[in-house]
Amino acid sequence: MKSQQPAGYLVEQQREIVEAYITHERSNKPQSNSRNKYLSDKIRRLLDKKNAVLIAHYYTDPLIQELAEMSGGIVSDSLEMARFGNHHDADTLVVAGVKFMGETAKILTPTKRVLMPTLEATCSLDVGCPADEFATFCDQHPDRTVVVYANTSAAVKARADWVVTSSIAVEVIEYLDSLGEKILWAPDKYLGGYVQKQTGADILLWDGSCIVHEEFKAKGILDLKQVYPDAAVLVHPESPDSVVQLADVAGSTSQLIEAAIQLPNRRLIVATDQGILYKMQQAVGNKELLVAPTGGSGATCRSCASCPWMGMNSLENLLSCLEVGSNEVFVDDNIAQLAVQSLDRMMRFKAEYLS
Ligand code: SF4
Repeated sequence: MKSQQPAGYLVEQQREIVEAYITHERSNKPQSNSRNKYLSDKIRRLLDKKNAVLIAHYYTDPLIQELAEMSGGIVSDSLEMARFGNHHDADTLVVAGVKFMGETAKILTPTKRVLMPTLEATCSLDVGCPADEFATFCDQHPDRTVVVYANTSAAVKARADWVVTSSIAVEVIEYLDSLGEKILWAPDKYLGGYVQKQTGADILLWDGSCIVHEEFKAKGILDLKQVYPDAAVLVHPESPDSVVQLADVAGSTSQLIEAAIQLPNRRLIVATDQGILYKMQQAVGNKELLVAPTGGSGATCRSCASCPWMGMNSLENLLSCLEVGSNEVFVDDNIAQLAVQSLDRMMRFKAEYLS
């Protein structure tokens, strides 16, 4: 059973805005190693001077990931980003990722200043789940426990009972199912379907998707497996079920990196945003990593396994936000007070059951 199709036109509109932005940025500012080094050095000095820490997602530009590592920050998935920022003693958190990550950092750590390289970077899951439509959907199903994925706005989190990331979604739903609770899940229908299959729980799905992961195609992976039959397939469960079914391991970004280490295969086909290859290759320097095909045979590549919104983060706008303190993240107090409860539930669950 599914909801009405969410506002898909909003996602397409956002995609066009993002692609125009990236084209503009790249054509105006050709990169060179010396310029990147200049920018990185300057950002490091500013992070020190302003007692700030850089928190970057796995899908950001490898230059930003490298800088986060070298400056004492972190590169991680959204759950660990939130936890790290919450415990770090810096006055300012600089979050390189997409909007919901900055909002989550601010909600969990309201006394700190949270800056982002850009406030324009969003996520198709967030865009495809408007808070007012979602509230109506919830109101229609008052008997269900509302569980939302981290990739949602603060207002949607405020309407939820639980927030989960992909790294603990299965465990949380298993727990709720054991209590006899029926679930309303949003926004990613593929991840929700995966969790439903894993747990057997009664889950009603919102109809959202990630524009990057839904482009992976089973046929493309099968073709690649013909060429490299020894390769193991790693899949993020935001991908369609036909792709997840081909996985040797399906899991969150951190779980896929761990699987890359543990699997004996020398060659790995990776079906998630290719930004992850920076950390994955660090972890398995002796293995060959292949990006899973997107778009299907003969099709024009749409996502190319690369999130356009994550791609809006650059060294230039990172430097700029630190220099002038721009792009500060604010969350309405009333919304934050509600959203923190569903986020806290996830953090406590992680600490009590999974540590
Ligand atoms: S990769 Fe997909 S889920 Fe992640 S931020 Fe981009 S659009 Fe959202």
